[in-house]
Amino acid sequence: MPTPRPYQNDTIGDLADRGRDGWMWAHCPLPCGRSVAVPLEYFVARYGRDKPAEMIFATLRCSRCGGQPTTFTVPSYAGSPADPLRLAPIPWDKVPAPIRAALGHVEPDSGSEK
Ligand SMILES: [Zn+2]
Repeated sequence: MPTPRPYQNDTIGDLADRGRDGWMWAHCPLPCGRSVAVPLEYFVARYGRDKPAEMIFATLRCSRCGGQPTTFTVPSYAGSPADPLRLAPIPWDKVPAPIRAALGHVEPDSGSEK
């Protein structure tokens, strides 16, 4: 099972290299508790691989409470018995809109989704 880890001594490149399918959760502290998905490629491109991972927090503001996320967790596993280590794909609806736009992620047409 993935467990929360301290990232205080890591760089953005360290996170991107860790094989976590390229994204992580950033969590706003309680009592808010909102979580957003952060695609690490965005931060690598914007700040470079050698900057501290803490810079990701510094750029994020919670759209619910205005606070700053303080913890990361890794994506959940979404595997099957045949492929138990597959990680969940990034949930684009949980990625902050400015980051989605910067990455050119096209919104799926929800009306045509099955
Ligand atoms: Zn919040």
